[in-house]
Amino acid sequence: MTTDLQLKPSLFDVAVAQGSSTVAVHAGTQRPNAHHALTPPVVQTATYTFADTADLCDFMDARMWGAAKGRTEYGRYGNPTVTAAETKLAALEGAQAAVLYSSGMAAVTSTLLTLLQSGSHVVITDDSYRRTRQFCLNFLRKFGVECTVSPMGDYEALEAAIRPTTKLIISESPTNPYLRVLDLGRVADIAKRHNVRTLVDATFATPLNLRPLDFGIDLVVHSATKYLGGHNDLLAGVVAGSEQLIALLRQNLWMLGGVLDPNNAYLLVRGLKTLALRLQRQNENGIRVAQFLESHPKVERVWYPGLASHPDHEAASRQMSGFGGVISFEVKGDLSAASRVVDGVRIPIIAPSLGGVETLIEQPALMSYYEMSTEERLEVGIKDNLIRLALGIEDADDLIADLSQSLDST
Ligand SMILES: *Cc1c(COP(=O)(O)O)cnc(C)c1O
Repeated sequence: MTTDLQLKPSLFDVAVAQGSSTVAVHAGTQRPNAHHALTPPVVQTATYTFADTADLCDFMDARMWGAAKGRTEYGRYGNPTVTAAETKLAALEGAQAAVLYSSGMAAVTSTLLTLLQSGSHVVITDDSYRRTRQFCLNFLRKFGVECTVSPMGDYEALEAAIRPTTKLIISESPTNPYLRVLDLGRVADIAKRHNVRTLVDATFATPLNLRPLDFGIDLVVHSATKYLGGHNDLLAGVVAGSEQLIALLRQNLWMLGGVLDPNNAYLLVRGLKTLALRLQRQNENGIRVAQFLESHPKVERVWYPGLASHPDHEAASRQMSGFGGVISFEVKGDLSAASRVVDGVRIPIIAPSLGGVETLIEQPALMSYYEMSTEERLEVGIKDNLIRLALGIEDADDLIADLSQSLDST
């Protein structure tokens, strides 16, 4: 006898949806859900049961033929709540498939462990997420993987860095903290010419502002902890791409074990339903606050891809449908001048991370590079007077008034 959960209801048909908000609300939703609930149930279980030995053998036979759709036998191999979130994310990304992990770094490291082997070489662009760079430069070295760091935006250097053993080009768009944006089509062309795969971390963009797969990139990764979850209450990571590559990643996830918990998958589904609304506000806040900061006499430089002054404004305008809510800016003065601005604001909260509904503020020099001297930080491109502002969904007028009083009083 089949139970409610074993029924295979139809999925919402994304073909009827034109807009990303419709997709964000409905994709991945079964119709009907178990127990006719509107929301996907949190299937809080570590294992799955069999009625008798024949039931078990039917399942094992079906799986051998790749036909065991709709159920599995153990929690590490799948969970319906996680599947609902993966289906929604694949639809948003315009990907054949997506796989979720317990964090963004679990997604990055599991993907690299899958695609690389001893003797492989990878090229990574600079200004990338620090832990990703560390994993490539330090950790993977233990396994005989070599890594070259190539300057963001220098496509000749990128192509010149490719060797016969190069398996993967890793990049980000926009980057942290300078919001650099890659010409994705150009990188995909270079990679295809040399038979190299491409992986782009688009955490700062979300699939609503940028869809790297549309430009020929092979795999896109996100820290779903940020905009996708959107409420600073969960950690998750996702990789999207072709059916074939995602199946390979999933096989290894079953071994590496960094699976997403069903409760977090539920929170992610819930957060994703409002992604389009939240991001629309964050895009609007981004451009307004960036313009305000650029016009302020105590601000030396603003890094925001939506401003004409940003080095990648052209590529960003061509590829992105919004520029997001993260702005980095340099105040006139030193480390403590920047700290005074951070301490003077009343709405933004001092914390790392980004993409949630609350505006967060931090000095990268103190948050991520505290143990380094000013000189060492400059070597990796982090200036002491740099502030990173990760805008939430508050009202732009309030945020501007608050930043204004802090800048004016210091
Ligand atoms: C936060 C972040 C990560 C790591 O994600 P976690 O969910 O914190 O593990 C990777 N890349 C970028 C760009 C990030 O912002």
